[in-house]
Amino acid sequence: MLIYGYRASHLLTEPVAGTCPACATSDGLRTSVFGRYAHVYWFPLLPIGKTGAAECAHCQFVVRPKEMDASLKQAFRQLKQRSRAPWWHFAGLLVALVGLGWGLVAHSNDARANQSFITLPHKGDLYHVRTANGHYSLWKVQDVTGNAVKLLANNYEIDNQTKVNELNRPENFGSDPLELTRYDLNIMLAKEEIVDVERPAEKN
Ligand SMILES: [Zn+2]
Repeated sequence: MLIYGYRASHLLTEPVAGTCPACATSDGLRTSVFGRYAHVYWFPLLPIGKTGAAECAHCQFVVRPKEMDASLKQAFRQLKQRSRAPWWHFAGLLVALVGLGWGLVAHSNDARANQSFITLPHKGDLYHVRTANGHYSLWKVQDVTGNAVKLLANNYEIDNQTKVNELNRPENFGSDPLELTRYDLNIMLAKEEIVDVERPAEKN
């Protein structure tokens, strides 16, 4: 079961001029503002507006916003405008933004690495390629001579890019290399026909 909903925390309370509608005590009213925030498992996600009421310090009678007269309503509105939700009401939003920023950085690092791998191919590089029918397969760099790159194509394909490495077994690759130029490979990367490049760690 997912537990989520709204909660509220106290932001501001100030005395307000006026007479209590219940006990007629004057100068006993104070207005309070609460910040509402959405939560999942009590972890705050983001603020979703403010609520509050006026209360009589003498008899504890509560005047809800709907029941406020014009001048009380005006004072309450001003207090709402002056109150600020604390930073932790935004906790989920902050986490999401940090995650998004991190994801963008990781993605651009990935793209840069792919570009440099394609520009200077190494024997053993593994290309994740998108096949004509939208599946994924692997090409392995067998040899690089000048501008020419010899690649061995995998005989299999898979519909899920994250699982394409399951095809990476020596016996799955054909023995007749296809030959492309670095320029061809660059175009394939730009067209996202090559979707990822893996370079095995250098062996010493
Ligand atoms: Zn009262």
